[in-house]
Amino acid sequence: MARIHFNDNEIKSEGVTILNGRVLRDQGVDRLKTAIVQSGRKPTLAIIQVGDLAESKAYIEQKRKFAEKIGAGFFHTQFPNDVSQADLENAIEKLNVDPGIHGIIVQLPIPESFNKQKVIDTISVSKDTDGLTSENKKLLESGNSKAVIPATARGVLSLLRGYDVSVSGKKVTVIGRSALVGAPIATLLAREGAEVTVCHRETNNVPEKSRNAEILIVAVGHPHFVTVEYVSKGQVVVDVGINSVASSTFKQESVEKLEYEIPKRQLVGDVDFEAVKNIVAAISPVPGGVGPMTVLSLFENLIEAAAVDNR
Ligand code: NAD
Repeated sequence: MARIHFNDNEIKSEGVTILNGRVLRDQGVDRLKTAIVQSGRKPTLAIIQVGDLAESKAYIEQKRKFAEKIGAGFFHTQFPNDVSQADLENAIEKLNVDPGIHGIIVQLPIPESFNKQKVIDTISVSKDTDGLTSENKKLLESGNSKAVIPATARGVLSLLRGYDVSVSGKKVTVIGRSALVGAPIATLLAREGAEVTVCHRETNNVPEKSRNAEILIVAVGHPHFVTVEYVSKGQVVVDVGINSVASSTFKQESVEKLEYEIPKRQLVGDVDFEAVKNIVAAISPVPGGVGPMTVLSLFENLIEAAAVDNR
């Protein structure tokens, strides 16, 4: 297995390197702030929320704080759970034609009663900061340079890059292939030259495919899905999962505390961090790994969209 080199962002915890997304995100603040000042325009993000999930509130708060730090504009609209699909789409259409708005995201999840992809596809591709519209997906798959890199996928790649982990020529296994998370991550990794294996619900012998990888990316949505039998010595593990469970469901000596507490809930990843950290070379924590990198990537996408708009 190729030796993986880690750089100065390295934080060792009992022999394992913690891939700390908060450190990298905070390092990005000055860079993004400068980019905004130099552009002479204030990139503004609009967030649409449906319902009042405490988790969504916490994630929106993270984005609002980050926007404030880098000098971006932030516009939050909250609808009740019983808003109609048509009203939601109308609100997005209005933002699509608003010249003061450069990016639009729908905070997920939205209630099951909505056609989620149809809501997302209402966002104009030029303002698709999350990179989740079907139109953008086609651009991404065809290798079109105008494609927005979906924020979570960009965040995963930036997290690896931040620790000098090159994916080119590496055996990478991605567990999870959802259209919004796993699939774009796999597409992007393949584009960067990785030899990608994708596992999903119907895949046989996931633990073996997972152990054989040099880099393991997990986006399943099941708390502590990946246990010791899924990992091998020397691996780099990136945990994309964010699962909100009742406090004290899992005992974990969290490396990172939550920045925005959710009452009576705790956030855990798809990987059993405590068990796996004793085997692998590097692992991203939850919270504090991919999540902050997704926020950074979202604002990188926003700034790029505003720059195109400015031409
Ligand atoms: P999803 O339910 O839409 O998809 C889950 C995927 O996992 C599917 O492809 C499914 O086939 C696969 N899967 C489920 N059970 C499996 C099994 N037993 N074996 C193998 N594969 C299995 O979920 P999603 O929207 O893709 O989200 C995945 C996770 O990523 C969630 O925890 C979500 O909260 C998290 N997430 C994190 C970020 C971030 O910024 N860190 C952003 C978005 C989503």
